[in-house]
Amino acid sequence: MDACWAWFALAVVGLIALFLIEEVYRRAEMKWFATKEPWALKLIDREMMEEFRRKERCEWCKRPVARCEPHHVLGRGIGGGRRIDHPFNLVALCLECHRSHHDGNPPLKCDLLAIVAAREGVLQDEIEEEINRIRRL
Ligand SMILES: [Zn+2]
Ligand SMILES: [Zn+2]
Repeated sequence: MDACWAWFALAVVGLIALFLIEEVYRRAEMKWFATKEPWALKLIDREMMEEFRRKERCEWCKRPVARCEPHHVLGRGIGGGRRIDHPFNLVALCLECHRSHHDGNPPLKCDLLAIVAAREGVLQDEIEEEINRIRRL
């Protein structure tokens, strides 16, 4: 009987160890993906980009423009590696506002997040959560 319990305990400990090893391995692998293969984490939607280019007004200054420039609110990453084309992550800006933003002037990132939140009817936190969720897929 004692030997029976010993085997049972060993099996349980073994299973737990296996689970932990697998978990560590999975996390290590995910980290590897995030650092070595950032292009695996992007979402490209050319139609969506075109839709934002076709918007008739800059979403920040409201001036009418022939063609807007879609800007990724939550960074495209190096070389667009972590680019996520999703309405939560895009704003249509005119050339001037787009340049101004990338030069560190208004519209700032928080202004752009506010535009998206108002347009999509969500909270700013929900935008970041959703984009991060997509990145983890
Ligand atoms: Zn503008
Ligand atoms: Zn941009």
